[in-house]
Amino acid sequence: MSGEAKGRLGVISGPSGSGKTSICRALARDPQVFFSVSATTRPKRPGEVEGVDYWFLPEEEFRAKASRGEFLEWAQYNGRFYGTLRKPVEDAIGAGKVALLEIELQGATRLREDGVEGTYIFIEPPSMEVLEERLRKRGTETEEEIRKRLEIARREWTQARSGDVYDHFVRNDDLERAGREVRALLGLEEEGGS
Ligand code: 5GP
Repeated sequence: MSGEAKGRLGVISGPSGSGKTSICRALARDPQVFFSVSATTRPKRPGEVEGVDYWFLPEEEFRAKASRGEFLEWAQYNGRFYGTLRKPVEDAIGAGKVALLEIELQGATRLREDGVEGTYIFIEPPSMEVLEERLRKRGTETEEEIRKRLEIARREWTQARSGDVYDHFVRNDDLERAGREVRALLGLEEEGGS
């Protein structure tokens, strides 16, 4: 290896509907970035692809991986398990990439507590009203699910703001602008020109 490649970790969180997934997907197109595909026990949504959006695992398998220490972090969210696979992230960092983790607050908090170095970014929607509107428009969740997610979002947002897990808060009022801000925070050069 060149010794110049500086692998590092980027942690992106934000309420469901904040637009963090869109921001991460855009970043993932950059060859300097490795996007960590998490494992989860939640059911696949229409349009989601195994190995692209998540590794969809039965709970038993998830628990087995967790007990073997295969997760860098894992958390329970809305009754389901979500976890970051350790090896691909460590390999990517070793290869000099920016490993990007899109995870919720508890997982990010755990990484911080474990002393895992990185840039921790929280994506904020312009308001709770906008968040609710975006969640409804997405049309992938039931009314009950939307209510639960809004409740979690409100709590996460308040906790994120009052805690010291995140280094930066990025307001997603405009996807492209917010994406550029995140790129700069992660030390990624501006794309374009080709
Ligand atoms: P969703 O069900 O909407 O895909 O994800 C629910 C929440 O779980 C989101 O906030 C998402 O960022 C988070 N999440 C996804 N993968 C992981 C993971 O590996 N670990 C943790 N802690 N959270 C995750």
